Amino acid sequence: MAKLYFKYGAMGSSKTATALITKYNYEERGMKVWLIKPAADSRDGQFTLKSRIGLSSECEAISADKDIRTLYHAREKADVIIVDECQFMTTAQIDQLRELVDREDLPVLCFGLRTDFQTKLFPGSMRLFELADSITEIKTICDCGRKATTNARISPEGYVVTEGDQVFLGGNDSYIAMCHKCYQDYILQHRKVELLHGSERDLT
Ligand SMILES: [Zn+2]
Repeated sequence: MAKLYFKYGAMGSSKTATALITKYNYEERGMKVWLIKPAADSRDGQFTLKSRIGLSSECEAISADKDIRTLYHAREKADVIIVDECQFMTTAQIDQLRELVDREDLPVLCFGLRTDFQTKLFPGSMRLFELADSITEIKTICDCGRKATTNARISPEGYVVTEGDQVFLGGNDSYIAMCHKCYQDYILQHRKVELLHGSERDLT
């Protein structure tokens, strides 16, 4: 029986690279992969998905109002669906993926973040925790050495942001993965974050 997989991690845990390597492994065995990602805005269609370590692949962007079952049945048959940035899928779209797993015996592998910059679940991630057959964590570490579990939004001035929209399109903020203790310390002590290495990244 096919399964619905949720592979979650914090920012910078190489989720996109892992998704692209997984795609390659399926294709090496002669299987057809449908690689999809939620569209950041209403524009959907083909685009190139790039990971920070240089891997890239053609990907289809799906806007929030689309039914994934309809799109799946209208295209060339796939053996597996791989979803990047699955936290931005709507609750309804995760339900549609679950239905494809059950009705089409089609494995669906979802890669994404667990929580937003306020440590709250994204809607897509919440639904995956509720429905996935297999849940695994892709780990990355905080600068202090602990496991990173939060995705701190950093203002252009270098401070951890605690208020704002869950998805802040067009903002100048960046994101950095931290353990919860460091995240709290930066907020409580109003300390500036030193972005020493290239781990900051645009969430969109
Ligand atoms: Zn830490």
